Amino acid sequence: MNEDTPDATVHDVVIVGSGVAGLSAAVYAARADLEPVVLEGPEPGGQLTLTTDVENFLGFPEGIGGMELIQNGKAQAQRFGAEFVHGTVEDAALEERPFALELSNGETLRTQALIVATGASARWVGAENEDELMGYGLSTCATCDGAFHRGDDVLVIGGGDSAMEEALFLAKFADSVTIVHRRDELRASDIMARRAREHDQIEFRWNTELLEIHGSQEEGVTGATLVSHPDGLPKDRLADGEDVEYEDVDVGGIFYGVGHVPNTAFLEDTAVDLDDEGHLLTLEGMTTETAAEGVFGAGDVMDPDYRQAITAAGTGSMAALDAESWLEEQALESNAEAAVVAEADD
Ligand SMILES: Cc1cc2nc3c(=O)[nH]c(=O)nc-3n(C[C@H](O)[C@H](O)[C@H](O)COP(=O)(O)OP(=O)(O)OC[C@H]3O[C@@H](n4cnc5c(N)ncnc54)[C@H](O)[C@@H]3O)c2cc1C
Repeated sequence: MNEDTPDATVHDVVIVGSGVAGLSAAVYAARADLEPVVLEGPEPGGQLTLTTDVENFLGFPEGIGGMELIQNGKAQAQRFGAEFVHGTVEDAALEERPFALELSNGETLRTQALIVATGASARWVGAENEDELMGYGLSTCATCDGAFHRGDDVLVIGGGDSAMEEALFLAKFADSVTIVHRRDELRASDIMARRAREHDQIEFRWNTELLEIHGSQEEGVTGATLVSHPDGLPKDRLADGEDVEYEDVDVGGIFYGVGHVPNTAFLEDTAVDLDDEGHLLTLEGMTTETAAEGVFGAGDVMDPDYRQAITAAGTGSMAALDAESWLEEQALESNAEAAVVAEADD
């Protein structure tokens, strides 16, 4: 931890992350006069900035652009006094308060309460054009974008439970769903694999990988180039100079179902508990508190199940309310201690 902090200010609340969860926490904390500082992180605005239309966020009957929703949320938080700072947390010292957060630019932020809203990044597979087409027919979230693919043929990439879930959900809308998996057997649990295998609209392409995505931001996804090899892992074999088979397919959508990585590396050596995948664990019951007193979790970073903007916003507001109550308790306790000391001095 950097001892030579250029800024000795101790904030009431620092919110790490500026996705929907962080923004919602910022609105609530700012309206409670806690003057929150929001660290924007490597992806200011978070995952919603990757998508075009959001049709399932309550209050927008015609839908709203992901970027617009985020910009509105930021403006709303700023209106009440939230301060937004460019910065990514590299390390967190949570053993004593105020907590100290070391940023990648070498600065240190100090805070009494900490809200972790760092999200979980969907894994990408490294196909050509994925940067350009993410949010334009390429997605990492069937619940979010499945309904845009009524009547389409779609691909789902992956072989674990995430991919099976995506495929089963998409089968409600799409004409056909093809699961593309680089091996000849699934990693998914038996029950999920059986449900997918038994579904009439779901097919499998074994020993196959996605090499390139076709389309444009104007047209959306129009197709893909797949590579396959009878012994699996075709992209590795291609890189090693082995012969693989190429095939172009016409599809209207591609979904990555290869899992998520919660952004919690900076919490690994702290008292905050993480699950096996790295999700931040909150205490039992309806709370955002963690095992580290004064640290609260919100959004996808603590939610392996729902991963929706509306649930992230909900837990963001809960985290701010929990932090506010906790700070009030701390203030009451220190006032009581001060009164005891004053009485003893008299
Ligand atoms: C393509 C796509 C389409 C989607 N469409 C929809 C939809 O239509 N409807 C819906 O409800 N949901 C949708 N989702 C899901 C939704 O975007 C997420 O559930 C939501 O963004 C989660 O919000 P969050 O704030 O928890 O995390 P995120 O949005 O992931 O934000 C995380 C924030 O943390 C910051 N951060 C990360 N690490 C650090 C660090 N070390 N230090 C500082 N900051 C850090 C990042 O910069 C980012 O600002 C979609 C997701 C994707 C990828």
